[in-house]
Amino acid sequence: MPGEFALIDRIRARARSRVDVLLGIGDDAAILRVPAGHDLVVTSDTLVSGVHFPAQTAPTDIGWKALAVNLSDLAAMAATPAWCTLALTLPDADADADWVDAFLDGFLELAERHDVALVGGDTTRGPLSITVTAHGFVPEGQALRRDGAHAGDEVWVTGSIGDAAGALAQWRARGPSSAKLRHRLDRPTPRIAVGLALRGIATAGIDLSDGLAADLGHVLAASSVGARIDLGRLPTSRTLADHFEQAQRWPLQLSGGDDYELCFTAPASAAFAIEQALAACDVTGTVVGQLVAEPGLRFTTPEGEDYVPAAAGFQHFQGVH
Ligand SMILES: [Mg+2]
Repeated sequence: MPGEFALIDRIRARARSRVDVLLGIGDDAAILRVPAGHDLVVTSDTLVSGVHFPAQTAPTDIGWKALAVNLSDLAAMAATPAWCTLALTLPDADADADWVDAFLDGFLELAERHDVALVGGDTTRGPLSITVTAHGFVPEGQALRRDGAHAGDEVWVTGSIGDAAGALAQWRARGPSSAKLRHRLDRPTPRIAVGLALRGIATAGIDLSDGLAADLGHVLAASSVGARIDLGRLPTSRTLADHFEQAQRWPLQLSGGDDYELCFTAPASAAFAIEQALAACDVTGTVVGQLVAEPGLRFTTPEGEDYVPAAAGFQHFQGVH
């Protein structure tokens, strides 16, 4: 597989380093130095063509998203991103130099934005898939976990939700589509600054990769609490509202995925501090409901009726090629 070494050289030539990378791409393994007094936070995600993105997605967008979904996990842990590795499985390593260059355009643009060094990885031949592992730090004991929420805490969501699922719904319908919604699907913004600002304020957090119902459900399970969410308060972009009626929006916002906003919990007494912190990050935040002692996740319409989402959890692009 002679193309593999050429590909690695291609990647190494473009990867920037950091002072805490003692040895980067080129040896059997990287050597990295974690700052004293910090915990190392590690996450890994795989994107498979036709499952996690439509096969015809631009390689630049795939590169961006492959890193973004990992940085979003670090944001959800309140970690500062530092390093990443990249494992690429490509259908034909010899023919894919142009693809890799375009992929790296998106990947490295986001990496540079957050001062993340690409320190190693692997290339293999096979059906297109991308695995990224990202590493970050938090001061000892300050990671934002899923299991710290308490009954009575408020449930917050950053930005707006449902846009990415709206883009996917339009793509599947093969009808009119919105470039703004599609941008949310292809180029998610990991909420790194928000995660850092929530250290010591939020009690629990998660990023919205699989939809509010499924992801908040993980927090509830880990924290042994329940929640009541007010559908009338779900943060909704103007674009989503322009393209989808309210009854269509709720399933997108609750069961759709790929928004990569943060969902977190905090006592009501922290609301002012949170608003200040979010404003400093230039990100909006909305209280969408409250945690209760009784287990379970319940949604209430503006009319006060119970609402049951059609399906909890994002099904990605499974079966759609
Ligand atoms: Mg996550």
